Formats: sequence, structure tokens, C-alpha cells
Amino acid sequence: MEPMPTIFVSHGGPNVVTDPSEARDYLRGLSDRLPRPEAIVIASAHFETDGPTVVRDPNPGMIYDFGGFAPELYEMVYPAPGHPALASRVHGLVDAAGLAPRYADERGYDHGAWTVLKLAWPDADIPVVLVSIDPKRDAAYHHALGAALAPLRDEGVLLMGSGHITHNLRALFGVMRDGMPSDPAMAEKVEAFVEWIGDAIGTGDTTALLAWRDRAPFVADNHPTDEHLMPLFFAAGAAGNGAQAEHAHASRQFGFFAWDSWIFR
Ligand code: ZN
Repeated sequence: MEPMPTIFVSHGGPNVVTDPSEARDYLRGLSDRLPRPEAIVIASAHFETDGPTVVRDPNPGMIYDFGGFAPELYEMVYPAPGHPALASRVHGLVDAAGLAPRYADERGYDHGAWTVLKLAWPDADIPVVLVSIDPKRDAAYHHALGAALAPLRDEGVLLMGSGHITHNLRALFGVMRDGMPSDPAMAEKVEAFVEWIGDAIGTGDTTALLAWRDRAPFVADNHPTDEHLMPLFFAAGAAGNGAQAEHAHASRQFGFFAWDSWIFR
């Protein structure tokens, strides 16, 4: 069996599920781009803990961790089962990497997880294990977390990071709420940042990638806080050095909110 690819996706708000967009089309088509996984391990930017936490809930519920969206989004369910045995494997691998994991016995799907999974695998028949990110820790930590789980790729497990390639919500909400025209300068900063990340990934320059905070352009504009980029390092680490990176999706909302996705094979 070929090792399972790994993937980073940008997830948007919960309305990605209902509102037509290029990003929604892309996420809906994921199951055609990837081998069917035996199980999915997902690190979402919306599951933040101090150190790694592995969910062994056999039946994760729903977390509606958003405000001000259409009522129907608060009724959506994604009933995919958990996978306690795989959670135990994940815990063991993370522990062996010296990252001192903990378990969560009960924890549901946040919108960074369920929206993407619902679009890609709407039948909810693939078991899922949730792994947390740590917003206080850096790219190297999340890269190591992904790398620790790389052996699972040989068992048909899809290792997935769900965040955002750029995440300047202040600029986004300004446009959405006030109908402000999007700022061309912001769009340029986004393109410069996304291009830099793409170069680091495309050339396999892990040293540069992990030094993104110091080296990438317009970091503070694109990521006022770090957490939405951390799942990218999880996916890249899980793929390992030498992986072929496919820039599988790039679309823009309001000209500057970027939805890029990479698949690592
Ligand atoms: Zn998010």
C-alpha cells in the first residue's frame, strides 16, 4: 500500500457548508483526490490545549463554536464515530516522540473539523480521531507532532490539518459587516505571504518554513495570532522531508481572504 497522503485545508466559517464557493467545491471533491482513508486524524485550529490532547471519545458530539450564523448551522450534525483504538496508537506515538500527550474522554467536533469532513465525506462513515494544537507553541512543535504520527500513513490513516493559510479576521469582518471595499494593500500582503509559504513548501525547505515568523513577509497582517497556521505544520511534518507538495487549491474571498490547501504525497 502506498502511504496515505497528508493534507492541509483552510476551513472558513461554518457557512462554508451551505454557501456556494470555490472552496466548498474543492472540499466536496476531496474524496475523489485522495484514497479512501481507513480513518482520519485531524488537527483543527479550533481545538487548542496546553500540550497535545488526543480524543478517545467513541462518539464525538458537535461543538457549535461560532456566533451570528444561520440557525440551520446550529442543527447540523456530523455523526462519524471516534476510534478509541486508533486514539491509543496516536497517544503512544506522540508519547514516544517525547511530547507528553493527554487524553480527552469526551470532546466533540469543532467547526474546523466537522465542516470540512462533512463536505469531503458526507456519509460520516470514516472514524475520526481529534488531536489538539497548542497555540502557545511554535511551528517546530506542530511539525514534530505530525511527524510522530507519520507511521499511521502506512495503515491508511489520513493525517489532516485544518486551519487557514491567512487569517486576518479583522480585515474580513470589516468587509463583511461594514461593506467596506477590500483594501488592495491587504490583498498584496496576502499574496506575498501565500507565495512565500508556497515557495518554502514547494522547494521542501523545512528550515525556512519553520522559521516563517521571522522570514515570511507580512506575518502580523496575515496571522495576528498563530493558531490557524499550525495545522499546516502538522500536515507537513506528517508528510516528512522529501514529500511532493501539491498546491491543490487557492481561492480568495473578498479578494484577500485566502483558502489555500496543500496535499503532500
Ligand atoms: Zn477557523
